[in-house]
Amino acid sequence: MIIAIDGPAASGKGTLARRIAQHLGLRHLDTGLLYRAVARDMRRQGGDLEDAEAAASAAKALDVASLEDPELRAPGLGDAASVVARHAKVRAQLLQLQRDFAHGSPPGAVLDGRDIGTVVCPDAVVKIYVTASAEVRAERRFRERVQRGDGATYEGVLADIRRRDERDAGRDAAPMRPAADAVLLDTSDLDIEAAFDQALGVILRKVGRLG
Ligand code: C5P
Repeated sequence: MIIAIDGPAASGKGTLARRIAQHLGLRHLDTGLLYRAVARDMRRQGGDLEDAEAAASAAKALDVASLEDPELRAPGLGDAASVVARHAKVRAQLLQLQRDFAHGSPPGAVLDGRDIGTVVCPDAVVKIYVTASAEVRAERRFRERVQRGDGATYEGVLADIRRRDERDAGRDAAPMRPAADAVLLDTSDLDIEAAFDQALGVILRKVGRLG
């Protein structure tokens, strides 16, 4: 059973995917970490994120054991990740790894990202596209960052989110968008518990119909 959860930054898809995987006893892959790790490795080498060949080499050399690195969650790395994620060659390098995870994880896996339902796992049994308004997402990210005491402003976080949405949805290679058969879940007015209940309802209805 493969479950695809896509959506923009700070929509809540990561938390949802983790909870669903835990609840259903499936493995979970946060595919954003792959792009973040490529951006991290490029930065360490002093590489230019716009250089598609160099980024593709970094993706090819990616050490999956390094995905545990807490540094990957650093706020600035999301933006850098969205720059390397525009390169079709980077995406091609990371595709098989994601598919191997999806298909090699019995009894199944939950993958979250931007193109799981459209490109990585078009055969996923359930596809959920998680959204929320840019303002709500910015508010969530802003609160997290205030708790960490990193001096972010709400306006700055909102501008970052809008820029990233534009880059992710506007690129040629596997742009962020819901698959035709995805169920849309707007979490603007939902807390994590309510979002989890709704997502689980979607999955159980779908899997029940199949069974
Ligand atoms: O999900 P997260 O914010 O960690 O992702 C970082 C960036 O990686 C995204 O903004 C996007 O550009 C890229 N990404 C992608 N495809 C995925 C997952 C992430 O292009 N499946």
